[in-house]
Amino acid sequence: MSLKEYKKKRDFSRTQEPSESKANKKGEGLIYVIQRHHASHLHYDLRLEEEGVLKSWAIPKSPPEETGIRRLAVQTEDHPLGYEDFEGTIPEGEYGAGKVETWDSGDYFPIESDSAKRVIEIKGKKIKGRYALIKLKPKNPDDKNWLFFKLKGNT
Ligand code: MN
Repeated sequence: MSLKEYKKKRDFSRTQEPSESKANKKGEGLIYVIQRHHASHLHYDLRLEEEGVLKSWAIPKSPPEETGIRRLAVQTEDHPLGYEDFEGTIPEGEYGAGKVETWDSGDYFPIESDSAKRVIEIKGKKIKGRYALIKLKPKNPDDKNWLFFKLKGNT
């Protein structure tokens, strides 16, 4: 897990975003957050703690609060632990320029995990229950498209 790409994209003398992971143990589970990001296109950034970083996916539409809604989730660069607390405005001209605010936060518990699949139990304020992230078969090597949805048969 590396923050190389994250750091390369940002000028920390200009943005208030954190530059390094901080040790961060809050709840019983792992860190879960969804940030609402008013960049050039409004989207939602799902971030899940894994091996000392926040794995990240950008969801172009509102996150699925019910079963039956499947959302595209485009994997983006790993973010540092601590980013879940970031709220503010990334200045114009910088990567991801625009306002970032917390949409939901809490803990999650991994149930199943491999390179193309995650099944997790989310304990957020808005989102609760069992969710899946499934990687779509790439059409070219740069494709990082996943589907994010709530699994049936849970609250
Ligand atoms: Mn974003």
